[in-house]
Amino acid sequence: FNGANSDFLKGVVAMDGLPAGDRVEVCFAGRSNVGKSSLINALTGRTRLARASNTPGRTQEINFFTLTESHYLVDLPGYGYANAPLPVVEKWQRLLKQYLSGRANLRRAFVLIDSRHGVKDVDEEIMSLLDSSAVTFQVVMTKADKVKEKDRAKIFKQVREKLAKHPAAYPEMVLTSSEKGDGIATLRAIIAGLE
Ligand code: GDP
Repeated sequence: FNGANSDFLKGVVAMDGLPAGDRVEVCFAGRSNVGKSSLINALTGRTRLARASNTPGRTQEINFFTLTESHYLVDLPGYGYANAPLPVVEKWQRLLKQYLSGRANLRRAFVLIDSRHGVKDVDEEIMSLLDSSAVTFQVVMTKADKVKEKDRAKIFKQVREKLAKHPAAYPEMVLTSSEKGDGIATLRAIIAGLE
């Protein structure tokens, strides 16, 4: 796919707002600033598609995009905001849990990890939630262009070690750069191959 069928569908704040689960669905999760909007834009071939999810007020919504005629792409709220008020965090964690455990057409979660920083504690919290929700997840390393090839090995080793502890983790990671376009075709092919 190339994004020709990509469009923003809706932002959801409660379970009763979810669109019908009539397409294969993949969701994207990551710490704020990990490069999630850039990656979604690169995947969909649009420059502004995922911007809505970064505008104030939309950050706590689960944002649905049509990706192909048979796939939805779901942008989960970025986590790890240092100063988000607790009630807000708790509300979105509740919605997230409900979504992850109750969405039959959700085939895979992609957890985005910054290639410079590796897996942080908040990433592990999401991974554990995916484990307990029995949602297979695959790590997507972002901003690969920001790390020299010789420095990658150490971070990758850390990520692999962390993944080994999570039963829902898919062992292979995808290395991407939204800036350079690396890994985008690979990721598209992975998504397109999910049925
Ligand atoms: P989000 O908060 O996870 O949606 O992150 P954004 O997509 O808004 O990206 C955060 C910052 O990282 C922005 O300044 C982007 O331009 C930058 N960025 C995102 N992806 C890449 C990438 O692949 N390479 C580089 N060099 N910068 C990136």
